[in-house]
Amino acid sequence: MAEVEAVQIIAESLKQQGVEYVFGIIGIPVIELSMAFQAAGLKYIGMRNEQAACYAAQAIGYLTGKPGVCLVVSGPGLLHVTGGMANAQVNCWPLIVIGGATNQDHEGIGGFQECPQVELSRPYCKYAARPATAALIPLHVEKAVRYATYGRPGVAYLDFPGNILQSKAQEARIYKALAHPAPPLAYPPHDDVIRAAKLLRQAKRPLVIVGKGSAYAHAENTLRHFIENTNLPFLPTPMGKGVVSDTAPQCVSSARTLALQKADVVLLLGARLNWILHFGKAPRYDKDVKFIQVDINPEELHNSVVASVAIQADIRPFAEQLFEQMNAVNFRFGYEQDWWKQLAVKCKQNRDTVQKMSLNTETPLNYYAVFHHLRELLPKDTIIVSEGANTMDIGRSMLLNEQPRHRLDAGTFGTMGVGPGFAVAAALFCRDFAPGKRVLCVEGDSAFGFSGMEIETMVRYKLPVTIVIVNNNGIYGGFDKDTFEAIRSEGDLTQITPPSALGVQVRYEEMMKMFGMKGYFCTEIEQLQAAVKAANQLTDRPTIINVAISPSSDRKPQSFNWLTESKL
Ligand code: ADP
Ligand code: MG
Repeated sequence: MAEVEAVQIIAESLKQQGVEYVFGIIGIPVIELSMAFQAAGLKYIGMRNEQAACYAAQAIGYLTGKPGVCLVVSGPGLLHVTGGMANAQVNCWPLIVIGGATNQDHEGIGGFQECPQVELSRPYCKYAARPATAALIPLHVEKAVRYATYGRPGVAYLDFPGNILQSKAQEARIYKALAHPAPPLAYPPHDDVIRAAKLLRQAKRPLVIVGKGSAYAHAENTLRHFIENTNLPFLPTPMGKGVVSDTAPQCVSSARTLALQKADVVLLLGARLNWILHFGKAPRYDKDVKFIQVDINPEELHNSVVASVAIQADIRPFAEQLFEQMNAVNFRFGYEQDWWKQLAVKCKQNRDTVQKMSLNTETPLNYYAVFHHLRELLPKDTIIVSEGANTMDIGRSMLLNEQPRHRLDAGTFGTMGVGPGFAVAAALFCRDFAPGKRVLCVEGDSAFGFSGMEIETMVRYKLPVTIVIVNNNGIYGGFDKDTFEAIRSEGDLTQITPPSALGVQVRYEEMMKMFGMKGYFCTEIEQLQAAVKAANQLTDRPTIINVAISPSSDRKPQSFNWLTESKL
């Protein structure tokens, strides 16, 4: 009777469930599996660090709505991706991790890289399992993909001991899994839509918050229509940027603090009231603010704050139905409203402050000047990947997104090191689905260090990613050369080197020389402009633009001290 190899069953099952991309690092016992993936027509991208592979796999999941696979070896390989699994799970992004494991015959007696992998993965997963036989693999693959994508998206882990990977199953005995349909759309209860519409219409100071759940839901067309017609002020969360364009006149990002603090009714669309949104509590919000909360995950409803209307639904059908209700009475929140006047004044004030800093091109450069000029030269539909402390925070307000799912950053889990992996995925996404679109990866010098070696992955797969390193010689704040040398002039370097210091004037762009390619070092705006223009022409390779900025450049003064301001 015909027999089929386990590795082939895994590959074909993934293919059957719609998986297209695998990112990983191979070794014993998953080498044959990686080859089976390619034989089955899956796209395999070999990376340099398992964490980065895991970030790439989850970014492709977020961008395409279908989970990517991260393939790793046993023990250390799997341990290295737990950070990535946690990041995907916390971001609510679909991801499948497949780990090789030690031979079951060797378990308990010190097998090679023996490690309790299913147990280790479980806290970061919606589903974690070890298929008992080769014949049962399709059942678990189907379930893993379904769990990763249905309801609130998340992570699934499948564990494959070497002996299972080397086994075969009789063809007739192989479990027949059906390819499940796309996740069902959860429709909102009609009465709740009516209640939500009524509350919004009565609001004196309404605010719509658009989160990355709206981006994942592909709710952009409906929400753009909704905002344009109702003229309601809206605020995107970091990765909710671009669902409705940052350049829309209703975007009040420049008055974020005021908008949150004074709103009397907040429509929360696929965003959680966690640290990013200051838990929905005073003093960052009015103590009597009413929330209309829409989330696909019922357990999320009323989290941190009891919502006035709480709706378990997909954002898209909800937004369509809400729009119908508002439109039926020709609702429009006009600019003559006092709330719009307050917001407009604040937006202008903040824009003026930023404008001044942006136009200050004195050297050493400041963050605002770098981002301002970068923005001017970027194609408007660039996918922007960003991480680093100040680099990400300031970049978020300065680099605009006009399209949805065009910003990938450290996210809800605040993970540093995600950038290059995300950029690899974004560049593949562009190549396969949006040719001509560019990927910009803006990194702090510290953030870049976590996964910088993925530059080799980008070169190997000919991915045209522009990496801009905003280099202040340190973590958060940086050091100039003289201060750095003065501090370290004598004594034990491990005692006197400030923990926040990185090497000063490190020429990261020279990494391109390893490949016989060109990078750019910039200290002035003209150099930056020339470098970005040159980078924009590249179609088959990445480049690094290393921009030295003032080590003491900082954010503009903030009204609230981030993270530490309030007791709950
Ligand atoms: P942000 O960081 O933008 O605030 P979060 O990740 O905190 O966003 O929240 C996103 C929310 O969106 C999660 O609670 C998730 O359950 C929800 N979500 C994901 N997909 C959908 C969808 N299709 N429809 C509605 N809500 C969704
Ligand atoms: Mg830095």
